[in-house]
Amino acid sequence: MNLEPVTELDRDTVAVQLGRPPRAIRAIAARCPSGHPAVIQTSPRLEDGTPFPTLYYLTCSRLAAAVSTLETTGVMKDMTDRLSTDADLAAHYLRAHETYLAERDAIEPLGTQVTAGGMPGRVKCLHVHIAHSLAAGPGVNPFGDEALALLGTSWPTGDCAAPSTN
Ligand SMILES: [Zn+2]
Repeated sequence: MNLEPVTELDRDTVAVQLGRPPRAIRAIAARCPSGHPAVIQTSPRLEDGTPFPTLYYLTCSRLAAAVSTLETTGVMKDMTDRLSTDADLAAHYLRAHETYLAERDAIEPLGTQVTAGGMPGRVKCLHVHIAHSLAAGPGVNPFGDEALALLGTSWPTGDCAAPSTN
């Protein structure tokens, strides 16, 4: 986990990525290789007090589009099915859920055990899991790690890729 403070440029970039001003943004949790924000850490409550349980939010529009395409392949059902047959995977996924909840509760407890993305019993949203994996690094969220691998060469490309050095 390498949380960075949000600069004015980051805030402007995320507003363009999301098509609206970012809400409850606390930190930049991951960047695309080119340097723009890929994942933000958000406050557990929005400015008006509404609970916002998704602690790590994918903002890069190119990455989000690639993840949406991956979701159409039905991979989430396969992932969910494997939780009932692979005890090690289920235990790993439960630890990912507990880590997520502990990090959120350390900021502000919401009084709920619900995290995001279907954790710990189902796999509902790959955007959540990829955001978690990019924020936490490999080995924390097994399905985020898998989904990142499944993206293959579709990310980072274009303006997400590392800027040329010439
Ligand atoms: Zn990007």
